[in-house]
Amino acid sequence: MKRILCLMMLALPAVQLLAWGATGHRIVAQIAYDHLNCRARHRVDRILGERGIVYWSTWADNIKNDTIYANSYDWHYQDMDSGLTDSSVVAMLTDYPKVGGNLFRATDSLVSLLRRDPNNADALKFIVHLMGDRFCPMHTGHLSDLGGNRVKLEWFREPHNLHWVWDEGIIDAVGYSYTEYAEYLELKYKNEKKAIRRMSWEELLLHNYHFTQEIYEYQTNWNGNSYVYVYHFASGMEWQLYAAGIRLAKLLNEIYG
Ligand SMILES: [Zn+2]
Repeated sequence: MKRILCLMMLALPAVQLLAWGATGHRIVAQIAYDHLNCRARHRVDRILGERGIVYWSTWADNIKNDTIYANSYDWHYQDMDSGLTDSSVVAMLTDYPKVGGNLFRATDSLVSLLRRDPNNADALKFIVHLMGDRFCPMHTGHLSDLGGNRVKLEWFREPHNLHWVWDEGIIDAVGYSYTEYAEYLELKYKNEKKAIRRMSWEELLLHNYHFTQEIYEYQTNWNGNSYVYVYHFASGMEWQLYAAGIRLAKLLNEIYG
């Protein structure tokens, strides 16, 4: 635990919310679990106990305000503004930005820690969660609006913001349980599974970055109809969820398989 705490000690931002909401993280964890090989599944089950990977997928959000883990607050996002070149976006994976979050540094550090100490349950719980955050568009949202938190909007006649819409609003509007969603996404994207496994982290980040810019551009001309918004973006969001699950499984199979 102490080694995790030593990963970074940076100040908390004024506003930043959760990542995928609970349902989103559970979808990612379920998809990952469904794609673990037998050996990895056995190891993960043993480390995480009978509650299992889906239950623990939201733990990192739940303990953000715990004094022990207070410094983990900015591990969940890496804000980046519009107009960046592809090379400057990709550079963030290794040349960690000094502002806007610590998602890439945190996941790299935790993966290294878990490779050295595979039975470290807290490191595993963080990775299960943060690998989901890496595919959450507003967790690479604009620094200037705190990842969409300052973009106020109405969602089905309720006041919300763009960050929340992408964490929870679209998923809730679709209305599946996490198991239903995991099954649905497997049917929908199983033919893309191999391609997702082959993608580099650079390609995955660029995909997410450009998708995020598309979200911001759409926002400027959106007519405010939430049904239209869900219809327009549900598939793009679902690909992100599925890719997160597949890449989490790939990582855990490498470590435990
Ligand atoms: Zn998070």
